[in-house]
Amino acid sequence: MNDKELYRQILGISGPWEVAKVDLNIEDEKVDIEIIYKSNKALCQECGTECDIYDHSGKRAWRHSNTCQMKTYLTCNIPRIKCKLHGLKTIKVPWSESSSRPTILFE
Ligand SMILES: [Zn+2]
Repeated sequence: MNDKELYRQILGISGPWEVAKVDLNIEDEKVDIEIIYKSNKALCQECGTECDIYDHSGKRAWRHSNTCQMKTYLTCNIPRIKCKLHGLKTIKVPWSESSSRPTILFE
């Protein structure tokens, strides 16, 4: 199992979400995990309609529970869809209840 597959399973990511990169920084004792969305379509959170990806909300980082004492961060440039009814919507990420603020599991 490679490190991407390991983190995919730890984070419970599936479907169009994929671990693109795992950067281990021994000096700073941290792990940066980059996640990408590999589809050009996503469901609207409000009405469940499949919509085209319109743009991206910009790269954001989330603090995740530590991996073996290493500070673990997820980064993702979350896609936004344009729903005919609801307009521009950031799609729901599988590792965070609300995509509007960072998840802090452990401090
Ligand atoms: Zn909608």
